[in-house]
Amino acid sequence: TSGERRQETRRAPRWREDAGSEGQRPVRRAVITGGAGFLGSHVCERLLNLGLHVVCMDNFLTGSAANVAHLMDRPAFRLVECDLTAFVHVPGDVDLVMHLASAASPADYLKLPIETLKVGGLGTLHALGLAREKKARFILASTSEVYGDPQQHPQREDYWGNVNPVGPRSVYDEAKRYAESLTTAYRMARGSDTGIARIFNSYGPRMRPDDGRAIPTFIRQALLGEPITVTGDGSQTRSICYVDDTVAGLLALAFSDVSGPVNIGNPDELSMRELAEMIRGLTGSSSEIRYVERPVDDPAVRRPDTGLAERVLGWRARVPPEDGLRRTIDWLARELSGDAAAEAS
Ligand code: NAD
Repeated sequence: TSGERRQETRRAPRWREDAGSEGQRPVRRAVITGGAGFLGSHVCERLLNLGLHVVCMDNFLTGSAANVAHLMDRPAFRLVECDLTAFVHVPGDVDLVMHLASAASPADYLKLPIETLKVGGLGTLHALGLAREKKARFILASTSEVYGDPQQHPQREDYWGNVNPVGPRSVYDEAKRYAESLTTAYRMARGSDTGIARIFNSYGPRMRPDDGRAIPTFIRQALLGEPITVTGDGSQTRSICYVDDTVAGLLALAFSDVSGPVNIGNPDELSMRELAEMIRGLTGSSSEIRYVERPVDDPAVRRPDTGLAERVLGWRARVPPEDGLRRTIDWLARELSGDAAAEAS
């Protein structure tokens, strides 16, 4: 309805990637929480390449300084080790706060349930507080997990989701739902300038080979000639979005004044079995595909409706899975051979 979709209307973007052009407020300095993680490190890199100053804040819980080591000699880059759930202070002006801090892989958040709830709650409050103090735009990295095991397919932003509040995944799903609620409350009650991105499964270089997510797991298993472990019967689907596309979507949202929530994902849907077979083919591996037990509350289907992102941000994913997977395989192959070399020395 028009009420539900009221916030979608496209307004003239106040910020653009060519920061500083006439009539637009330039984004000069951005704070990226969780900036030493997989997605965050790519966001930092992209913003630096656009000429922005970047403060990357991270406690290295699931990310690492190695992910941003190649940025350390850039004068516009600062890495600050800090826990977002504690008091957060950033001296100087800030124009944009992108809040990405949170464990994101199921293996990580199931190991770190309280930390995940805390960074989604307290961490989000502190990041919102920082944005409010600096009069900066705030972007929340939310997730398709807010839709839970969806009963609507594909998922549109006005679907409220199907989440088990006491299931094992709830530490992540509910933390993000609460974070969305906090972000909305700051917008409505405090006038904060906010945007919510619901990110669907992203993949690419700098995912940890052992982070438990399907793509790095399948690639690692295929490269090592181990069985590729597909859960259930492999008919469950995911839509996978290459990291460059995800980052472009996040920045399109950051440089607009769209409040969202907006789905950021690739609508091409693959079953887990197809994904395993594709990875086996691209790596030239002869690994067998082995079917193992499916995790509790694992969603059966997942596909974004990206119509809103296309309309209000002019963004859609462009990288085909074969291309993105090839780049990810190259990277993981180098990582794994680096590990093997380190073990041998
Ligand atoms: P990641 O685990 O690689 O990165 C998260 C970063 O947050 C890590 O560097 C971690 O150390 C940091 N962090 C965690 N708790 C912190 C705290 N208390 N204080 C400071 N830093 C903290 O995960 P990612 O895949 O890069 O995900 C980034 C964000 O995007 C997350 O918020 C995640 O929920 C969201 N997201 C990711 C995906 C995806 O497919 N990768 C999908 C949906 C949503």
